[in-house]
Amino acid sequence: MLELENALTRILSALPAPEPEKIPLAQAHGRVLAEQILSPLDLPVFDNSAMDGYAVRASDVAAAHSDCPVRLRLCGRVAAGTVFDGEVQPGMCVRLFTGSRLPLGTDAVMMQEDTRTEANDPEGVLFLDQVKPWENVRLRGEDVQRGAMLGQPGDCLTAGRVSLLAAVGLTQVKVGRRPDVGLLASGSELREARQTLSPGQIYESNRVGLATLLSRAGGISKMFPLVPDTLTATRSALEMAFNQCDAVVTSGGVSVGEMDFIKRAFEQMGGELQFWKVAIRPGRPFVFGRCQEKLLFGLPGNPVSAFVTFLLLVRPALLRWQGARDVNLPAHPGVLAETLTNRGERRHFMRVVVDDAGNIRSAGTQASHCLGSLAAANGLVDVPPSTTLAPGTTVSVMRWE
Ligand code: AMP
Ligand code: MG
Repeated sequence: MLELENALTRILSALPAPEPEKIPLAQAHGRVLAEQILSPLDLPVFDNSAMDGYAVRASDVAAAHSDCPVRLRLCGRVAAGTVFDGEVQPGMCVRLFTGSRLPLGTDAVMMQEDTRTEANDPEGVLFLDQVKPWENVRLRGEDVQRGAMLGQPGDCLTAGRVSLLAAVGLTQVKVGRRPDVGLLASGSELREARQTLSPGQIYESNRVGLATLLSRAGGISKMFPLVPDTLTATRSALEMAFNQCDAVVTSGGVSVGEMDFIKRAFEQMGGELQFWKVAIRPGRPFVFGRCQEKLLFGLPGNPVSAFVTFLLLVRPALLRWQGARDVNLPAHPGVLAETLTNRGERRHFMRVVVDDAGNIRSAGTQASHCLGSLAAANGLVDVPPSTTLAPGTTVSVMRWE
């Protein structure tokens, strides 16, 4: 039985190299960058106004006050996307809007609220206050300088970064290819949702939950039909899935029973088992195998075991496959509001509910077949073997939603 870290290291070292592909920026959210991007532009691209108001020379309005306004002559108007032709002379001002390019000769913007115009003086604007040089001006390059690093290989493209790349005019980015991942569910008791249940049968529920986690980790999921518990059926299902996909995630059929066929069928089709069993709860019977460049992730059938082993062992693999640097589940500290106890000899990843204030409570029963508490949970806490964590203890909560 492997420790979790060893299991993960073995999986990550078995991955094929990421394959870069160019995609439109509009589709890049969540993808892993496969190139270094240096900014081709300054942002802002030019000095521009932060306000609706008037471009002035700050020195022209140095004496302005609401009791004694300074009058400047209006010599132009810069609508968004246009420019002022020429240079603004002393004693003059130009009407500007937010984002208007600052005219040559001016060095500040007076906000509209600090000015007044009079009906009998259409050429004049009264300034009721002073401005400092460069006040209300967004300077060229103050956000991003030309040549600055906008992204590196291994960065996951957030919505914010995609916006930044759009702002410097990029239309395409190089990212790691998403792996195609087959999803198989094995067990003769399993039925599809549209079928009626005979005695002893249950609805299959692992594939749909795993497909959700899978696509959020960047994989492209492909669901295969249910696999009954026979060696022949299991082998042909695995062969079909491996033919069509880069990796196959199975659930069920990896325990010690004589009806558990995943390992045997995988070896029969030429696969090589890398390890079986990880020292965690839930999810001990997890199996990992390789078939040429392709990978088998054999998850236990119990719904919570399948879910948790996916998060701990498959999700990081899919992310690293695409080149991601950070592959751990996001985690943050919280404080236990009640006792969490692990009497067992394996690390227990317990389902918890974290409230907005960071208080953590158990999400309910921790048995590995109980989906009610998984549905209620919004985090996992890694409780070491033979350990009682008392209320008030600060722990790290792993999140997946
Ligand atoms: P196994 O890992 O095949 O021994 O299955 C362990 C438990 O999980 C059994 O109670 C199975 O009925 C259940 N199980 C296995 N696969 C699924 C599935 N895809 N959906 C729901 N329950 C399952
Ligand atoms: Mg089974």
